Amino acid sequence: MTALAALIAGKLPDGRGRFGTFGGRFIPETLVPAINRLEAGAKEALADKEWRASLDAELASWVGRPTPLTHAPRLSEAWGADVWLKREDLAHTGAHKINNALGQALLAKRMGATRIIAETGAGQHGVASAAACARVGLPCIVYMGSIDIARQAPNVHRMKLLGAEVRPVESGDKTLRAAIDEALRDWVSDPEGTFYLLGSAVGPHPYPWLVRELQAVLGREARSQMLASAGRLPDVAVACVGGGSNAIGLFHPFVGDTDVALLGIEAGGHGTGLGEHSATIAYGSPGVLHGCRSLLIQDDDGQIIETHSISAGLDYPGVGPEHALLADTARATYEAVTDAEALDALQQCCRLEGILPALESSHAFAGARRYAEKNPGSVILIGCSGRGDKDLPILLEAIDMGGK
Ligand SMILES: *Cc1c(COP(=O)(O)O)cnc(C)c1O
Repeated sequence: MTALAALIAGKLPDGRGRFGTFGGRFIPETLVPAINRLEAGAKEALADKEWRASLDAELASWVGRPTPLTHAPRLSEAWGADVWLKREDLAHTGAHKINNALGQALLAKRMGATRIIAETGAGQHGVASAAACARVGLPCIVYMGSIDIARQAPNVHRMKLLGAEVRPVESGDKTLRAAIDEALRDWVSDPEGTFYLLGSAVGPHPYPWLVRELQAVLGREARSQMLASAGRLPDVAVACVGGGSNAIGLFHPFVGDTDVALLGIEAGGHGTGLGEHSATIAYGSPGVLHGCRSLLIQDDDGQIIETHSISAGLDYPGVGPEHALLADTARATYEAVTDAEALDALQQCCRLEGILPALESSHAFAGARRYAEKNPGSVILIGCSGRGDKDLPILLEAIDMGGK
């Protein structure tokens, strides 16, 4: 059986947590017991109908699911296509991240954890984790690079208001990568009582699988909403890809629908040179980062290179292993769009649909517009992963709004 056939048949990841040659578990011995416990606990919980019902009830009453599928008539007209938006911007805390944070927090509770740790880069996952921990009643410690803390003050305050402790990370690159390293170190010191709530479909097995299962709710909803509202499946589903959690959540329920193209959009930044973008699949190469074999942005010596994107949430030098396989098998395609293209698409969506998408999500809009140019008349489903209110300071700098 080819890797793609196995994926479509629901047989991946395999017993070792691999998606073809990607994924797996590259971790120190000291982490093995904690990871094994997590895998067993997650499998048990996801197979337990009662637990799933309690998760679904919280997703409905606290997160606000299902989020709407919104037809976009004016974007459709402008692009010469039929455009539909899956509105994760309307989920509690303003993005898809809450689906994963809530699911893992409920899992932590079920597994008897006494504290939850999380990492955050821009702060969005930290905010979602802090909110979910408050909801389930567990203390939350968020590791955040000191550079990111300085850049993202409003999110730091949000996390604190929600009762979390924010621990500055001064080691390494003092950003997301160092924060993940520090969270893993913390976990090793208390593998029984601590639950590590990881923010995207990356890291060692079982995280890429667990996060996909928790985010697939958005793709399942979108699939049945398309059938109900458009009367058919889309020609293409488009999502932005940072670590890849909203994209894998949207793509996964469509993987077996081979007539539906899957298009992942990465952050092309302001150039194709190392350090100018964050387009891991477009420009990266295989390697191991944070316990997982996938594609990475690295130099010839295997050193991870700092990435750039106007959207902080797409700024990760790796990508989830399932995306690496989807790209490898050509079941999904991945393209990069630049900061400028994303900004332009954001403004178009604001003016034509009255929706301010997150800068991350605006990459998906820009990629969808490009797809429409090449495929006139097509039916396009866009994952609107989050709302853009958080991006106002950057938008004020980047866009000339006229006057003062
Ligand atoms: C964090 C974030 C992303 C990127 O993360 P993925 O794991 O790739 O989904 C995309 N959109 C929004 C709104 C985000 O906050």
